[in-house]
Amino acid sequence: MRGLRVHAKTTSHFAPPIHHAWLRYSSSNWPCQSFVVVPCQTGASTPQIWERILVRTLTIAAFLCVSLFAVTVLGQHTLDIVESNGLSENRIDLVIMGDGYTSGEQQDFASDAQNAIDHLFGKRPSKQYREFFNIVTISTISNESGADHPATSEYVDTFYDCAYDCAGLGHLICCDYSTILSVAGTEYPAYDVALLLVNDQQYGGSGGPVAIASTSPLSSDIPFHESGHVFAGLGDEYDSAYPGYVCEDIYPNISFTADRNDLKWNYWVDEDTPLPTPESAAVNNQEPVGAYEGACYETVGLFRPVYECVMRSLNNDFCAVCTEQMVLSYYGFVEPVDTYSPAQDSHVGVYGDSIDFFVEAVEPTPNTLAYTWDLDGEIVSWSDSADLEFLFSCVDQGEHQLTVTVSDLTNMVMVDPGNLMTMSVSWTVTRTDDGPVENCDDQDAGGDACLDGGYCPGKSGCGCHAIQARRTLFSSLLPLIYL
Ligand SMILES: [Zn+2]
Repeated sequence: MRGLRVHAKTTSHFAPPIHHAWLRYSSSNWPCQSFVVVPCQTGASTPQIWERILVRTLTIAAFLCVSLFAVTVLGQHTLDIVESNGLSENRIDLVIMGDGYTSGEQQDFASDAQNAIDHLFGKRPSKQYREFFNIVTISTISNESGADHPATSEYVDTFYDCAYDCAGLGHLICCDYSTILSVAGTEYPAYDVALLLVNDQQYGGSGGPVAIASTSPLSSDIPFHESGHVFAGLGDEYDSAYPGYVCEDIYPNISFTADRNDLKWNYWVDEDTPLPTPESAAVNNQEPVGAYEGACYETVGLFRPVYECVMRSLNNDFCAVCTEQMVLSYYGFVEPVDTYSPAQDSHVGVYGDSIDFFVEAVEPTPNTLAYTWDLDGEIVSWSDSADLEFLFSCVDQGEHQLTVTVSDLTNMVMVDPGNLMTMSVSWTVTRTDDGPVENCDDQDAGGDACLDGGYCPGKSGCGCHAIQARRTLFSSLLPLIYL
């Protein structure tokens, strides 16, 4: 049937992006030392990967219910909608939780959660793609403040029973994961990713079924690092040894070779950059992209893209290679188009009739989306925006296929092998009369200039486009798109 919505994607956008984590770790037997990871305070870290927890059972009605009642109190848990950017079925739902906050410290949790959000979305690419997220907090009252410190025999009664010194590592925090996941799933079933803040000023955190970070200022970049594992399946780029762990060739940012032909990210490497790349060639932490030896817990034989990336040490940005994978991972959750109008796929009209076609896309900031409209496979020259006023006088009698293609042209992604960042919507339009056909794409046809600098098709019936303001807005964004 012609005119149905066309999806460029061929795979479910809800498929877990890091299959290796699912394979390696069973949620039924989480040995703390096998999945926990948190960079050492010096910048070197121990291994880890925390699984993306995927639960998408919330219906649209339930979402609206939660939105209408932004605060829900159940027992000692309180759910707050911090940021709602769209329906959960086409957004990444991030839930931020807390442990070791007493009833008198609930405002501290709200403040700490906001700080974590500001930090997490303060750097690329989450900064540009914040619109792709819904953010909620679940505050929980603990009987006592802080966390356990077994090494010094300090114990407190907290709801999620978080404790430092996990696996004998002072900065490693482990908690009661089953309770965390149970509360998250009960309070906010749509959540995709959970972050737990531990109300303790000692540096520490971990990855695993949830990302965990203490409220020490030194821990503030831990969630950012962990997001690289959970979203994009990135490997650790540091080279400090992790006894008993053998790096596998499964990470997009770790290479077992420096050969230019076989380097996974060779399209990011300039021709004049030597491979392998000596650290002396680095002009700064992240330039040039090359193949620097030392990664994934090995000092030799494994290569990383840049000198320093947040996957190697905290308080850095993601490198270009990791950034690209992060953006692609967002599009594993979120399709470019939220809605479109009209919803019906078939439309009939005669000379003088018109229909406004429109797509509502999920826009990065700045907006790097491009819209291409084509009619029967030919680019329509009279629209490059999210809407198009279709004029039946511009087509001949019969059935036609109108398609809009939305593509994210961000320069943070060079290769999109799954075509995740492009989506098309199609309609069938049928003109039933055999009246005259206006020349709607030829400026020599005698039309008038539009206020937005575009072109009005011929005067006899076509007229200027009805939605000038919106077109002007999108036209002004074109220079950004092509940066
Ligand atoms: Zn990196």
